[in-house]
Amino acid sequence: MTDASAFTPSANVAQLKESATIAVSQRAKALRAAGREIIDLGAGEPDFDTPAFIKVAAQKAIDAGATKYTAVDGILPLRQAIAAEANRRWQGADKVTAAEVVVSTGSKQSLFNACFTLFGPGDEVLVPTPAWVSYLEMVALARATAVPVMGNPERGFKVTVAMLESAATPRTKGLMLNSPSNPTGSVYSPEELRAILTLAHERGWWVLSDEIYLRIAYGSPASSALDVAPSRERLVVVNGVAKAYAMTGWRIGWTISSPQLAAAMTAFQSHTTSNAATVSQHAALAALSMRTEADAAVTSMVAQFEARRDAALAILRTEPRIHVLDPKGAFYLYLRAPGAGKSASGSDAGGAFATHLLEKANVAIVPGAAFGTPDWVRVSYAAEQAQVEEAMRRLVAAFRELA
Ligand code: GLU
Repeated sequence: MTDASAFTPSANVAQLKESATIAVSQRAKALRAAGREIIDLGAGEPDFDTPAFIKVAAQKAIDAGATKYTAVDGILPLRQAIAAEANRRWQGADKVTAAEVVVSTGSKQSLFNACFTLFGPGDEVLVPTPAWVSYLEMVALARATAVPVMGNPERGFKVTVAMLESAATPRTKGLMLNSPSNPTGSVYSPEELRAILTLAHERGWWVLSDEIYLRIAYGSPASSALDVAPSRERLVVVNGVAKAYAMTGWRIGWTISSPQLAAAMTAFQSHTTSNAATVSQHAALAALSMRTEADAAVTSMVAQFEARRDAALAILRTEPRIHVLDPKGAFYLYLRAPGAGKSASGSDAGGAFATHLLEKANVAIVPGAAFGTPDWVRVSYAAEQAQVEEAMRRLVAAFRELA
């Protein structure tokens, strides 16, 4: 028998909450394993298989001996390919070099490396809200203070320069940006992004621009910070292969920053995980360098995401009381739960709705409390269209029952 009282968490993690997005998908998997037919619209994970040309490149790399350690910050050809892609956007004289790129085990590790290396006690970091669940925890793990900046739902929850200015203090050290956004699907226009990056530059804030959904945009392409920033000073661009290339399990992400910050993050990573998996780096290299194949794969997947989005929205709009944002990118729908705003503050309408849907309708979605907005819920439409449509019909029925 083990003594349950033998473990008390350290101060580092005493306040830590597990990732709600991961928890929802684990629960959906467990219920499926127990025989329930769950439609999982929880975690944001493309249902597509990794494109064949990427898998072939990885198999060839294994046969050629890609089974050993690499440089901590990643293989040079991959870092060069990432720099080349960045330079197709960045027009400044200070071209991006491979020395400014650090490859990590997923963009989650890249974001954590950046937060931990840049922020510390006494620092405040502005977090446009609703925000992806892990930003707040990463800032807290760095012992800095996350300052949520609530967006306006009428503008897809996007924040403005004025909102950021009023949340800032002399302690503000950084700003998290995420466009296209998880969980809202909102996309900042080039002008909106430029205005925010200009403010950050003037104030000397570090900007962590999480661009993991950059290639998943509908109508017009989404802008990278590298398209519009007045300067790359104090700019950290974070991206990876997981979402655009359906490569979640390969775990490859990266940062593009300065040689000095890259060196510091590499030193940090040399003590935590060392290099990202070698074969995965070769797979990512194929995704970034075999551009004809990659572009065809991305175009096809984005077209399917768009068709699912449209089909899902058409069903949701049959119920006029459902307030759903109009997403321009990523693969999420964000909507207000029934009963939202009706009860006392501290209520969790989104959590109640998500629980009801899972227990009564076998549909897994993520409560908006995970993202700082408890009245809302997030639906991922990165699943087969027929499943998305069936889930939306059940959601509408449940909404009518509870509203
Ligand atoms: N980022 C995706 C999501 O929000 C995957 C799960 C996670 O890492 O949070 O669902």
